[in-house]
Amino acid sequence: MSVPRLVLATHNQHKVGELRAILAAAGVPAEGVVGAGDVGAGEPVEDGVTFTENAIIKARALVAHTGVAAVADDSGLAVDVLGGAPGIFSARWAGRHGDDAANLDLLLAQLADVPAAHRGAAFVCVAALVTPDGVEHVEIGTLRGTLLTARRGEGGFGYDPILVPDGEVRACAELSPEEKNAISHRGQAFRSLAPHIAASLI
Ligand code: IMP
Repeated sequence: MSVPRLVLATHNQHKVGELRAILAAAGVPAEGVVGAGDVGAGEPVEDGVTFTENAIIKARALVAHTGVAAVADDSGLAVDVLGGAPGIFSARWAGRHGDDAANLDLLLAQLADVPAAHRGAAFVCVAALVTPDGVEHVEIGTLRGTLLTARRGEGGFGYDPILVPDGEVRACAELSPEEKNAISHRGQAFRSLAPHIAASLI
């Protein structure tokens, strides 16, 4: 492994690969860009109350662990009629962290009587860059759409089977990974952050 210059706050190698590709397009070479697992970093307690706070908490913890720049993101689904919930609670809306099926069932039940005209929602992602010399920069990406009343599609994860992006007729779970990355909240946030990362690594 090359000497780490930038650590990404994920233990998922697939996500590391995706983020490397986005960064490479902005001129950040893949060498030196590693995942949190590669540097033996654990996961900090995410006790912020906004996506931004949680993204910054994760990035700061990595910088403290490694001494090199770090990038972290936090994301979720914000439903209009629920005042932005599940929001930061998206991964544990039904009580157990990461139980996508239960989270989806609960949300569908809560919105059962809400008509199509009022089923607006957005996936939101905040991506944060923190450097050892104290630079902190955040970018936000959003993917707005309408929530279905039942699941559609086999792809993706989380709430993908029930969000139809504006301008689309398919649910996110019916898009290819490339189609989703091109419009997603995460793709937008990381593409906006990439030039700032490139500048901080010069
Ligand atoms: P985290 O940012 O990995 O903590 O994700 C929080 C939660 O938000 C996930 O567990 C999903 O429930 C939801 N979420 C975030 N991004 C997406 C997405 O692109 N599709 C579907 N669900 C998402």
